[in-house]
Amino acid sequence: MRKVKLLQQRLADGRSKKVIFLSHCILNENTRYLGGACRGGCIKEIVEQCINEDLGIVQMPCPEQRAWGGVTKRLILIAYGIRGTLLYPFFRLFLPFFIYYSKLIFWLLAKEMVGQIKDYLSYGFSVIGIIGIDGSPSCGVNKSLDLPKSFEMAAQIDIKLLTVEEMNKIIFQCLIDCRGMYIELLQKKLKKHHIKIPFSAHDLMDEIHKNCTRVKIPVSQ
Ligand code: SF4
Repeated sequence: MRKVKLLQQRLADGRSKKVIFLSHCILNENTRYLGGACRGGCIKEIVEQCINEDLGIVQMPCPEQRAWGGVTKRLILIAYGIRGTLLYPFFRLFLPFFIYYSKLIFWLLAKEMVGQIKDYLSYGFSVIGIIGIDGSPSCGVNKSLDLPKSFEMAAQIDIKLLTVEEMNKIIFQCLIDCRGMYIELLQKKLKKHHIKIPFSAHDLMDEIHKNCTRVKIPVSQ
């Protein structure tokens, strides 16, 4: 460790030694739920702020992509429009286990991220903050989604008539004031390691309503 620190001093270069951790879809909206991506790729306003402030960007993995069947999150798509079918009672019964399984995968991801954060901190880097996505059941910092309610509403969907607007109306109606599952686990793990990092969020609903505002980049104490 002493040798590494000496070499860090001797070989001090252009790096800012400041990083920020972003939810995956801030840099890649291709992982959003179907109907939830308003940008072709990344959220330029946030990325530009990071560039202007000389921050290294760490893209956290998308928890739902990992737990819910890949980029289209096909495991939850099975629930769309199943009301009145034999699958519906099975899925209702299965939902608490699905949430439990999701939390398990998210816990592993949170552990991996805290490992990375500790690595940066122990070598004198600053982790300026973590930006999540309000309105996400996983990455929400202030607002999340009522999963059982959204499951019920998704089960009633008529897939052949579904539009992007209707999909997002469902999301809007299921918003609740609490943290998403992944962010909650990440915050708990950070607390356990006595690491204080400010959290901030990009608001999904603002983005959908085209009122995208600048996200306040948090400043680490
Ligand atoms: S909000 Fe989180 S879970 Fe949802 S797409 Fe973005 S990174 Fe994935």
